Amino acid sequence: MDFNIPDDAKSIRDKVSDFMTREVVPLISKLERDSSVMVDIFKKMGKLGLLGITIPEEFGGSGMDFLTLGIVLEEVSYFSGSLALSYGAHSNLVMDNIFRNGSAEQREEFIPPMVKGERIGSLCLTEPGGGSDAIGSMKTSYVSAGDAYVLNGTKTFITNAPLAGTFLIYARNGNNYSAFVAKKEDGIETPRQFEKLGVRGSPTGDVVMKDVSIPLDRVLGREGEGKKIIYGGLNAERAIFAFMPLGLARRALDESIRYSQVREQFGNHLSEFELIQEKIAYMFTKIEAARLLAYKAAKMAGENVKDPSYAAASIMNASEMATQVTKDALQIFGGYGYSTDFPVERLFRDSIIAEIGAGTTEIRKIVIARYILGKFH
Ligand SMILES: Cc1cc2nc3c(=O)[nH]c(=O)nc-3n(C[C@H](O)[C@H](O)[C@H](O)COP(=O)(O)OP(=O)(O)OC[C@H]3O[C@@H](n4cnc5c(N)ncnc54)[C@H](O)[C@@H]3O)c2cc1C
Repeated sequence: MDFNIPDDAKSIRDKVSDFMTREVVPLISKLERDSSVMVDIFKKMGKLGLLGITIPEEFGGSGMDFLTLGIVLEEVSYFSGSLALSYGAHSNLVMDNIFRNGSAEQREEFIPPMVKGERIGSLCLTEPGGGSDAIGSMKTSYVSAGDAYVLNGTKTFITNAPLAGTFLIYARNGNNYSAFVAKKEDGIETPRQFEKLGVRGSPTGDVVMKDVSIPLDRVLGREGEGKKIIYGGLNAERAIFAFMPLGLARRALDESIRYSQVREQFGNHLSEFELIQEKIAYMFTKIEAARLLAYKAAKMAGENVKDPSYAAASIMNASEMATQVTKDALQIFGGYGYSTDFPVERLFRDSIIAEIGAGTTEIRKIVIARYILGKFH
């Protein structure tokens, strides 16, 4: 068993780290106040080849695996949770999903502009009446009308919606669920942007469809395959998004190590106190353990292993870990941790989303328990 990161993944990770340090870190406070800054960042990432990590080279991507995308996402998250959420939604939830399920024509039309960062992607599943029960309570409808499908409904909490040009939308016709690739120009409205606790630079909004007409050839996969695409997409999303809390937690640990070695109380550095050392030892251990499960789940998702328990366990573990680790970091910083003078309060706020998006902690527990109980009994 090889625990080393392959050289090509390492070199992309270093490229991301360099890009984030040079181009994104100087903009972080601006981005947290004004998410439209994201548009330029995406274009720059596109030029550097950082958007299409899992997309084959013939479509402008890097042709790497899910694990590499996860490693990249951890690195982006280390510097900016907001960019990580928007980047992951664009790259994995939308682009990778369209690539995996799309026709040759759909791939040709929609993938290259997304790889270049010219069009930002939004995945539209959640509705005002249903997040955890997104499928059962879905109200967004489609009907076929001659040479088009007509969509009506409202999606909510949609990452990137206010900036997006490409929307992957789930809708139902009775018990038939289908996925559609839509363009902003089709008449998609994005009237509202949420104010949020964390990941404030990642725009989250509503997506409204009023008699939006989508050509027949923009159904993803086949009509009626929506549920399969939702479940497949959610598994990949969980496997990939586990790397976001990992990156946030690793940053919190690094900040804590640095701070505890310079801040003095009672004539000693904080790092001399055993209660602080205990926190740091736990933080390190929990991060490393979460990373091992994240690597395994990402490998399994990339190899299309039909077992949802690992991806759900990975993101559940990593996100609970990050909530605790970033809170410990805040405690190590004391009053300064609570202030915006240091990044730890942002890391703490940004971590919380990992317990909610891609199915909540509670839903992940249900997914794991159902699968392993069904499997072993
Ligand atoms: C910043 C942000 C970005 C997001 N981005 C996207 C996106 O890009 N696309 C998208 O489609 N959605 C997105 N979401 C939506 C997200 O996936 C949902 O918020 C999430 O699935 C929870 O749904 P809900 O908010 O409706 O909560 P609810 O489903 O109302 O759940 C409320 C609480 O009840 C619990 N609960 C529900 N059912 C059960 C049960 N059976 N047993 C035990 N507990 C239960 C939940 O765990 C939760 O604690 C985003 C959300 C946020 C906050």
